[in-house]
Amino acid sequence: MPVVVTELERITADPAGAAGEVWRRLGRARWQTLTEALDNPDGDRLHALQRERARRREAEREAAEREAQRPVCTGCGQRFTDTRWQEVLGRGRPWGSGSTGMCEPCAKEHFDRAEAERAARHRAEEAAPAAGGRSGGAEGARPVRPPPIAAPCPRPKTSASTAPGG
Ligand SMILES: [Zn+2]
Repeated sequence: MPVVVTELERITADPAGAAGEVWRRLGRARWQTLTEALDNPDGDRLHALQRERARRREAEREAAEREAQRPVCTGCGQRFTDTRWQEVLGRGRPWGSGSTGMCEPCAKEHFDRAEAERAARHRAEEAAPAAGGRSGGAEGARPVRPPPIAAPCPRPKTSASTAPGG
């Protein structure tokens, strides 16, 4: 609660009377109008300034900390961009494993090279005859038919006897 004081002589001496700068807030050296004396501009401004300074200091400290943690490309030695950093942190391995330590251009190059190597290997495998893969000599082979299933066929009895000749 601000305490303001005044002097009767000041009020009577001031053309504005009590509305003039005849009030002094305890703790302040200046004589002010009553409104100014009761107002707290200095305190508020100071407080806001301090808060703003603290906020900026904090932001700077955070930024410095962040920069210290920013990865460096293992390919070209450049620091990661924010985008690349986020990619590596968030989406994991966009260009395949082994490239997360690289900046985007390097990772892409790495990826492209790996792709090219893979394609080259694939082509080489196709060009070379496969060794021992197929079974040879299939020309004369015939499909093996499964043996016929013996159906239980009731055979009629034959009256004709076959007597052994003798
Ligand atoms: Zn790089």
